[in-house]
Amino acid sequence: MSLPFNIAIDGHSSCGKSTISKAVASKYSMRYIDTGAMYRAVTLFCMENNMISNKEVKLNLLLSEIDNITINFVFNAETKLSETILNGKNVEQIIRGFKVSDNVSVVAQIQQVREKLITLQQEIGRQGNVVMDGRDIGTKVFPDAKLKLFVTADAVIRAQRRYDELNKKGEKVTFEQVLDNLTLRDDHDTTRKINPLIQADDAILINNSNLSIEKQNILIDDLITNILGK
Ligand code: C5P
Repeated sequence: MSLPFNIAIDGHSSCGKSTISKAVASKYSMRYIDTGAMYRAVTLFCMENNMISNKEVKLNLLLSEIDNITINFVFNAETKLSETILNGKNVEQIIRGFKVSDNVSVVAQIQQVREKLITLQQEIGRQGNVVMDGRDIGTKVFPDAKLKLFVTADAVIRAQRRYDELNKKGEKVTFEQVLDNLTLRDDHDTTRKINPLIQADDAILINNSNLSIEKQNILIDDLITNILGK
């Protein structure tokens, strides 16, 4: 069963947006788009082309190359997950690393980067049946989405979850570094001038600090069933 509408999921860093999105996408055969991956891919492009140092982007250089940045997603049949392709290269692993996390918020605040990625996101959304997560999906990308969620959790709990994840992958990073990065990104994302992270007026707030994934899935299923029944 697919859904006749798009779902917008926004929220703070590492609050489990992608876990929710993947569950919804799998249950309702929807296409899942992780917009954070797009901002991470542009950040990697900047890093690989010496366009960023000490968290400062060489804007003229980036703007002269911005049209040469192509981002796509491919479906990995083995993992059943979508992977990010930057200019033909699979960058799914590297964009999740700590170095990219450390630089992504400064790249995400650049107007031309946002315009390019939002255009792409809206094109994908026109096909419908899409669940998209990010920071401005309910407010800017799909302001008319039938279901909007705003997800959050206590910062220390989020940092612990993220730290465990990175640890499992073998990344050498301390809990304090993860917590610092997360709070700094939240701060950047909520206070930037262009499309800051804010809860849309019609978004439903989910605080999953003390909510199991199972209970969260049931809650969201109920919301979807409710909309379908209207
Ligand atoms: O979702 P994720 O944590 O991977 O996003 C990485 C960063 O990309 C965020 O911290 C934010 O700066 C930026 N972002 C954004 N708008 C989106 C999605 C992500 O500004 N729609």
